[in-house]
Amino acid sequence: MKFATKAIHAGIAPDPSTGAIMTPIFQTSTYVQQAPGDHKGYEYSRTHNPTRTTLQDNLAALENGKIGLCFASGMAAIDAILKLLKPGDEVISTNDLYGGTYRIFTKVFEKYGIKFHFVSMERVEDLNEYINEKTKLIWVETPTNPMMNIIDIAGIAEITKERGVLLAVDNTFATPFLQTPLDLGADIVMHSVTKYLAGHSDVVMGAIVVNDEQLGQELAFLQNACGAVPGPQDCFLVLRGIKTLHIRMERHSQNGKTIAAFLVNHPKVERVYWPGFEVHPNHQIALKQMKDFGGMISFTLKDNRTEAAFKVMEHLHLFSLAESLGGVESLCGHPATMTHASIPKEEREKVGLVDSLIRLSVGIEDAEDLKRDLAAALDVL
Ligand SMILES: *Cc1c(COP(=O)(O)O)cnc(C)c1O
Repeated sequence: MKFATKAIHAGIAPDPSTGAIMTPIFQTSTYVQQAPGDHKGYEYSRTHNPTRTTLQDNLAALENGKIGLCFASGMAAIDAILKLLKPGDEVISTNDLYGGTYRIFTKVFEKYGIKFHFVSMERVEDLNEYINEKTKLIWVETPTNPMMNIIDIAGIAEITKERGVLLAVDNTFATPFLQTPLDLGADIVMHSVTKYLAGHSDVVMGAIVVNDEQLGQELAFLQNACGAVPGPQDCFLVLRGIKTLHIRMERHSQNGKTIAAFLVNHPKVERVYWPGFEVHPNHQIALKQMKDFGGMISFTLKDNRTEAAFKVMEHLHLFSLAESLGGVESLCGHPATMTHASIPKEEREKVGLVDSLIRLSVGIEDAEDLKRDLAAALDVL
């Protein structure tokens, strides 16, 4: 099945009791048993819920994986992956990553004796010097947040397979429409479903997809044992959102291209970070592993002060100032004071995350209206 068909049909069957074409919201905590242990596969909703099962199967199919697991948030999904590790283990992560991921690594799991290295992975071979016998997991975000670097997933998978290390990819920015990390050799795909998969800024959820049966069972054990599961109503909303994922991603990518081209020629703009530019340092890898470039763009101003960025954002009307991304409506954010405020300034600036950097999540509105909105706001400077 091709992607668009899978988005609408994979894992989804009419409800057997009524024929309802839409997966019902099974708003129940428990299930009646005929006799102890004699049940229909459902005992308690932390462990299994039919609405969640349908969504999990659909997500697994979209990522070309075998086992999908949903969590109460993207962070809960990351938490479950890290609980595969034990004290003394080491993790190597991309150095430009979601602020909450950096926070759970350094403020939560370091305390339990797990060591994290933050490394620029734009040159895959740089990874080798950090890998030792304690390394258990490589954590990759690509495109990275917010600098839009592209990491060569297949290149890193070659190293992790040789060294027997797990490779996890946070696929939130790309979505399986643009990139399927399991096909490139990753072991684990993780999502903040909150963003493009749900797509309508109305749900917080996370997901993990894997191919390996045993790894899937370990993660399913953690999902049930730790209990950070999403409710059935949220699963229903995400199932509904995913039915248009392919259409939305096409438009996000188209609009992203238009806005990137507009910004790069604007006299008030210093730099635009978008993997679709031929001059982007890893454009060739983006072409190889992504179907298109998505709707995430970051840019800096010639006036490199926080106040200048604030002024532009204050004068944007169609781009709402908010945390998050990936919804149908356009958003803007200021990573240095918002999503990445928990990363020390020196660390931030090492990767180019300066004070004037603005991150856009380009929505699926009319691109001309979005351009006009940006033009008017930049004129204020
Ligand atoms: C939002 C986000 C997360 C965290 O997900 P939540 O659903 O907010 O818990 C992780 N990684 C990336 C890239 C994100 O954008």
